[in-house]
Amino acid sequence: MSIETIVIVGAGQAGASAIIELRQHQYAGKIILIGDEAHLPYERPPLSKDAILNPDETKLEILSPQKLQDLNVDVILNQSVQKIHRNEHVVELTNGNKIPYDKLLIATGAAPRRLPMLDALGKHVYTLRTLEDAQALISVLQPKQRLVLVGGGVIGLELASSARARQAEVTVLEVNATVMARTAPRLLGDFLLIQHRQAGIDIRLETEITQANIENDHIVIDINNAEQLHADAIIYGIGVIPNAQIAIDAGLDVDFAILVNENCQTSDPDIYAAGDVATQLRENGQYRRIETWENANLQAGIFARHVMSIEQPKANPAWFWTDQLGFNIQFAGDMTVTDWHMINIEDTKTAGPAFVIYGLKDDVIVGGITVNAARKMRAIKKMITSQAHFESLIETA
Ligand code: FAD
Ligand code: NDP
Repeated sequence: MSIETIVIVGAGQAGASAIIELRQHQYAGKIILIGDEAHLPYERPPLSKDAILNPDETKLEILSPQKLQDLNVDVILNQSVQKIHRNEHVVELTNGNKIPYDKLLIATGAAPRRLPMLDALGKHVYTLRTLEDAQALISVLQPKQRLVLVGGGVIGLELASSARARQAEVTVLEVNATVMARTAPRLLGDFLLIQHRQAGIDIRLETEITQANIENDHIVIDINNAEQLHADAIIYGIGVIPNAQIAIDAGLDVDFAILVNENCQTSDPDIYAAGDVATQLRENGQYRRIETWENANLQAGIFARHVMSIEQPKANPAWFWTDQLGFNIQFAGDMTVTDWHMINIEDTKTAGPAFVIYGLKDDVIVGGITVNAARKMRAIKKMITSQAHFESLIETA
C-alpha cells in the first residue's frame, strides 16, 4: 500500500528531523506538520545558555519557512492535536478540524514536572521548556537578583551557570546527595559541585522547600523546615513528564511514556512515537527513554527508515552534552555503572581542568565522559562499541 499522507504531531526536534529524514529517504507523499506552539521547529539546547546570554546572536531555527516550502511540507501552527481517531485514521485539532493520515508520528516531547506549592504563588516563579520561557528569564537573570533554582539537574546547573555569568546571586536546592544525580555518575556530580561552589553558587544538597509565600513582593521559602531563604525569583527544573495524553486516550500502550518497539512503532503499527515522549525497546531487550537532542534526531531517523522499508543501521552509544561554567562536558554510553576511572588530559589548549572518565563493567569500557576534552569523544564511542578493556587502554597510554 502506498503511503499518501504522513502526519507529524509536534513541531519540535524530533518532528523537524523526521521531515528531513523522510525527504532524504525519497518519501514523495504529503507531509503535514502540526505544532501547538506559535513557532516553526527550533532548538531547545541554547535556551538555558546562549539564548539567555546572547539572545541576538543565537540561532535557534531548525527549519526556515523557505526550507519547509522546498521540502513541500504543510505546516499547521498554534493547534494542538486533541484526539487520535485510530479507526478513521484522522487526528482532531483544537479548532475541530480533522486531518487524515496513513502514518502518524507522535513527537510531542515533554513538559516540566510541576511543583504546585510554587505555582500557587502566581508570580516570580518560572520553569524552562519553550522560547517564551527563555525570553522571560532574560530579565530575571540580572545582577544582584536573588535567584533560587530548585533542582540540581541539567536545567538547574546550566541556568546557575548562566545566572552567575549575569552576576545574579544564586542558590540551588537539590533533593539528592549530589548534583546531576539522574544523568551522571557521582564522580562527575561531585566535580561539578565543587566547580559551582567555587563560582559562588550556593548549592544546598538533600534540601527541599517545605513552605513558600510571597511577602513584600518577594518570595520567602522554608527549606527542610529548618531555614528561611528570601528570593526575587524561583526557577524550578525537577524533571519532565512526557506529553503522552493523546496516546493514552487513543488506547496505545503507555507506561509513563509511549512504548515503542525497536522501529519506534507503537502498539498501533500505523502510529509511531519519537523523542522525549517515547520509551523504546533497546538492543538489550529493555525499554529506555532518553531525553536528549541526539535521541530525538535518531528516533526520527528510525521512524523515517521504517516507513520507507529501509534497513536500520547499528545503534551507536547514546550521547549528550552539557555546557556549564565554561566546561564542555560530553557523555557517551552507560551512565548507570558504578566503577568510574578518571584520566587527566595534559596537552589541552583549554585553561583549567580537562579529563576523561571511563565507566567500566568487569573492566570493559561501557561509558565515557569528556570534560573539556571533546576531541577524545570519537575514540571513546569506538571503545564502547568494540567493548575495549580499560586495562589495555592503560597499557597503551
Ligand atoms: P520537543 O523539542 O519538546 O518538541 C515537542 C513539540 O511538540 C513542542 O513544540 C510541543 O509544544 C509540541 N506538542 C506537544 N503536544 C502537542 C500536541 N498535542 N499537538 C501539537 N503539538 C504538541 N539535550 C541535549 O542533548 N543537550 C543539551 O544541551 C540540551 N539542552 C536543553 C536545554 C533545555 C532548556 C531544554 C528544555 C532541553 C534541552 N535538551 C538538551 C533536551 C532536548 O532539547 C530534548 O530532548 C529535545 O528537544 C526533545 O525533542 P522532542 O521533539 O521530543 O520534543
Ligand atoms: P533532571 O531530572 O535532570 O534534574 C532534576 C533534579 O531535581 C533531579 O536531581 C531531581 O531529583 C531533583 N528534584 C526533584 N524534585 C525536587 C524538589 N522538590 N526539590 C529539589 N530537587 C528536586 O531534570 P531537569 O528539570 O534539570 O531537566 C528537564 C529536561 O530538560 C530533561 O529532559 C533534560 O534532558 C532537559 N535538559 C537537558 C539538558 C542537557 O542535556 N544538557 C540541559 C537542560 C535541560 P530526583 O531525580 O530524585 O527526582
